[in-house]
Amino acid sequence: MKREPAKPTVPCAACDGEGISGEYVPELCGEGEDQPCGACNGTGNVELPCKYEVCPQCEGRGTSSAYLGAFTSEDWRELDDDFKEDYLAGRYDRACEACHGLRVVLEVDRARCPAPLLNRYDEIQQEEAEDRRMRAAESGWGYDSGYGF
Ligand SMILES: [Zn+2]
Ligand SMILES: [Zn+2]
Repeated sequence: MKREPAKPTVPCAACDGEGISGEYVPELCGEGEDQPCGACNGTGNVELPCKYEVCPQCEGRGTSSAYLGAFTSEDWRELDDDFKEDYLAGRYDRACEACHGLRVVLEVDRARCPAPLLNRYDEIQQEEAEDRRMRAAESGWGYDSGYGF
């Protein structure tokens, strides 16, 4: 199976991300039956128009050591020589988290995206970026790298 980059989506406004229509359509539903939301086909999410872009996290390499965090020059001086050598040789690289090794990501095609969806999408992106910052601040750098340094 060919893997595809995740499509950018926003929660469906018509059903509030539930995927279920509140509308009762006698011809379609039995008594008290939930109908899938027509606006999102029952998925709860609406896909945005999108286009392929070279992955910004790994710059199209498909692997990245960004999970280790960024080193300041002071951090770097204190690191073990063996580690530095391996790091520079890319031995700590993992499949890139942003593109899962696919080298491309699907970015919202802002020119084709209706403004209300785009605004919602930007809001969600901002909230997620804020979440990531909070988590990064709590965990500090590198401690969850799994390499025990
Ligand atoms: Zn919906
Ligand atoms: Zn990537």
